[in-house]
Amino acid sequence: MTPFVSGRHFLQTPGPTNLPDRVLRAMDRNAINHRGPAFGALGLAVVAKLRQVFRTGGTVGIFPASGTGAWESALVNTLVPGDRILLSRTGQFAWLWEQMALRFGLDVATLETDWRHGADPAAIARVLDHDREHRIKAVCAVHSETSTSCMTDIAAVRQAMESHPALLMVDAISSLGCIDYQHDGWGVDVTIAGSQKGLMVPPGLAFTAISGKALAAARAGGSRRSYWDWEPLVAANQTGFFPYTPAMNLLFALDEALTMLTEEGFPRVFARHARYAQATRLAAAVWGLDLQCADPAAYAPGVTAIRTPEGHSADNLRAVILERFNMSLGNGLGRLEDRVFRIGHMGEIGVLSFTGALTGVEMGLRAAGIPHQAGGVQAAMNFLASAG
Ligand code: PLP
Repeated sequence: MTPFVSGRHFLQTPGPTNLPDRVLRAMDRNAINHRGPAFGALGLAVVAKLRQVFRTGGTVGIFPASGTGAWESALVNTLVPGDRILLSRTGQFAWLWEQMALRFGLDVATLETDWRHGADPAAIARVLDHDREHRIKAVCAVHSETSTSCMTDIAAVRQAMESHPALLMVDAISSLGCIDYQHDGWGVDVTIAGSQKGLMVPPGLAFTAISGKALAAARAGGSRRSYWDWEPLVAANQTGFFPYTPAMNLLFALDEALTMLTEEGFPRVFARHARYAQATRLAAAVWGLDLQCADPAAYAPGVTAIRTPEGHSADNLRAVILERFNMSLGNGLGRLEDRVFRIGHMGEIGVLSFTGALTGVEMGLRAAGIPHQAGGVQAAMNFLASAG
């Protein structure tokens, strides 16, 4: 039995993230007529605000779904069974996307990584260079691999594609709202995101930004589809209405969360994420624990995966922290099961609650008997006290 621990639960998973009180209040209201004028205005408002987050002037779709649904929409709208795609297996989420592609009968050319780096643009360029017949129809990349906390440089991937006609599809599920993302500027064709991470909204909405080229590919072909079809999204961008009953209260939440992000200003939002990420890494360095991401240029802004020393269970550490200090951390996924714990630092977090979260980790390391140096929290506090 879990002993009673007083105080509010600390949710430090890399999604779902903490919900601001303003967002909770915005959801806490009666339903409205989803075919009435008030709803149309709401639909148009959230699309306009989402365009700013994706930095696109093009189509932005909203599905009542988890992010996985938007993965599926990207594949079925643009590709048919037998089409070849190129995917860098940078971690568990890239692997899951690959598994989905295989289930749809796609021919997946995989670039393996050690799960400690982002995708390698040079390796992508080499494969595309050999693809003289342009059999590769899409290049898929995960921007922030939430399982490893490594980023892929999407602008560099686009550059590596040079004049190859493949579509560029990017999973930005744990990066959107945490770091500057440029759907149009980087030449991304399909960007996929979800509500429950940097956007500070409960799980249940999936988003997709779609380039003109991707839309043209969908109109010219793709696989059989119904619920995931993009065409009604194009219409929804004009009218604000959905083809089915929308997840209305989540849209109230989204509208409020996007307003909050705009009020804070995106440069400040991104700087805040960078600060907490840096504070976490400083703490880990003092603790003497290795980061799963081995490339400093690729550190993620929203999550840090930390390895426990050989022979020490990361799952036991998390269990001790939950039981003793009432805090949830992310677990190791796939081949990293029990090898890493992940501290989420995206979305609604204040400096004091975040130093509290790091304190819980340091106390947990001691309580679980994990060899470490004390003082990580102090290093993080010193940094946060002096940082902007
Ligand atoms: N891709 C990434 C990078 C993720 O972090 C996640 C979820 O954590 C997913 C895909 C799957 O999203 P969902 O769980 O919303 O379906």
